[in-house]
Amino acid sequence: MSLAMNIVDIACKTAQQNGAHKIQSIEVEVGKLAGVLEDSLAFCFQAVRKNTPAENAKLQIITIHGKAHCISCDDSFDTDTFFTLCPECDGLAVEIIQGRDLKIKSINVD
Ligand SMILES: [Zn+2]
Repeated sequence: MSLAMNIVDIACKTAQQNGAHKIQSIEVEVGKLAGVLEDSLAFCFQAVRKNTPAENAKLQIITIHGKAHCISCDDSFDTDTFFTLCPECDGLAVEIIQGRDLKIKSINVD
């Protein structure tokens, strides 16, 4: 819920700074590893946008797949979990390089 509130908050502030009164759509990128359930985010968004400039805004969720990098063999591969072995060398020294974040990509205002 607080996540959706943050999104609406940021969007409304951005709209204000641009002298806009209505937000048409908000595009957010959600990483597969960000721990966010897209359905519940969409649901919360509907609830928190009431009586804000984002009241009729569409929330567009773009899913970003997880990517990891193996420190041992320098291979990069797709993953949807934090705990993964490198498919090349079975190494454990794997760092997540993509898919952990949730960020607002764009806000369209009137
Ligand atoms: Zn490796």
